[in-house]
Amino acid sequence: MKKTIPFIDLKAQYQHLKTRIDSRIQKVLDHGHYIMGPEVAELEEKLAEYVGVKHAITCANGTDALTLCMMALDIKEGDAVFCPTFTFFATAEVIAFAKATPVFVDSDASTFNICPKDLERQILRTISEGKLNVKAIVAVDLFGLPANYPLIESIAKKYNLKVIEDAAQGFGGSINGKRAGSFGDIATTSFFPAKPLGCYGDGGAIFTNNDEYAELLKSYRVHGKGTDKYDNVRIGINSRLDTIQAAVLLEKLAEFPQELINRNKASTNYEKQLASIYQTPQVPYGYESSWAQYTLVSEEREMEIAKYKKRGFPTAIYYGICMHQQTAFKYLGYLKGDFPVAERLAISVFSLPMHGYLEVKSE
Ligand SMILES: *Cc1c(COP(=O)(O)O)cnc(C)c1O
Repeated sequence: MKKTIPFIDLKAQYQHLKTRIDSRIQKVLDHGHYIMGPEVAELEEKLAEYVGVKHAITCANGTDALTLCMMALDIKEGDAVFCPTFTFFATAEVIAFAKATPVFVDSDASTFNICPKDLERQILRTISEGKLNVKAIVAVDLFGLPANYPLIESIAKKYNLKVIEDAAQGFGGSINGKRAGSFGDIATTSFFPAKPLGCYGDGGAIFTNNDEYAELLKSYRVHGKGTDKYDNVRIGINSRLDTIQAAVLLEKLAEFPQELINRNKASTNYEKQLASIYQTPQVPYGYESSWAQYTLVSEEREMEIAKYKKRGFPTAIYYGICMHQQTAFKYLGYLKGDFPVAERLAISVFSLPMHGYLEVKSE
């Protein structure tokens, strides 16, 4: 039987890091501080250093990381929060979960990220309707490519909006050497196993240079604790990263730069083979992608996927349904045709295997 090719090869990564990861986990088992153990503080320090921000605050997953941002920025009922319609559900979900109103924005056809032109159009439309308080933008580093923060941040400034960078997929990417996780007022990431930097379960982190937000986030993630752990000064949640996950992440973070090099090699290799057949991912000048996904556009997607399948080559579709077409967001009243670029992407994108352990033939 033919060996099946995994879409993301976590087993190959584990085999490569086994000795280091096993001994890190064993250390946690030996000291027994399973919650907020020393590995969590060590990881937060290393994450902040890698991203280039003052504070890294870990939490239970990437969705909680976004929810904690909503809490720190006091996003609530009556607020409009702008986000791309072509993204993973959590980006929009957390806005509605905070009782604010998600206002969707169309995508850029070549980067797949939030379109700054449409963003400004949606902000102006929302202001002129006069029903909601325009509050924040959640931009997403889709498939690993940082969104256009230079433009997004200037639009935010113009209309006095906060910017949240959803770097769940972007961790490892950069713009002119400035790393993903350092854009906007607060940024988040996810350590879900399939993300560029993943753990062996759920995990997430929040990044900021703002001391006040950092204090709030550290309180909100532990039931709104005050300086005395049992004096709770605000309503929070329970969202901590397990010490064992921090231990795994410390070893994976050490290997991450090399994995990024490998992902870049794999994408260059794909580009060479596929650029004449499909629309391949475009990385603007000065940008680096973390290659969370290698995503192609084809008008004959189903046929193409079938071809790959026949050869034992896995593919995946991220994402087949835009946010404005999700059942859960029907109440917002969007219509088919509202976001033509995103809607076209949703019916024509598909992704190929991408990870740091793909065998790349060098010629
Ligand atoms: C994965 C992901 C999240 C959520 O992260 P979890 O750790 O799964 O909660 C949020 N936003 C985007 C863009 C993601 O890809």
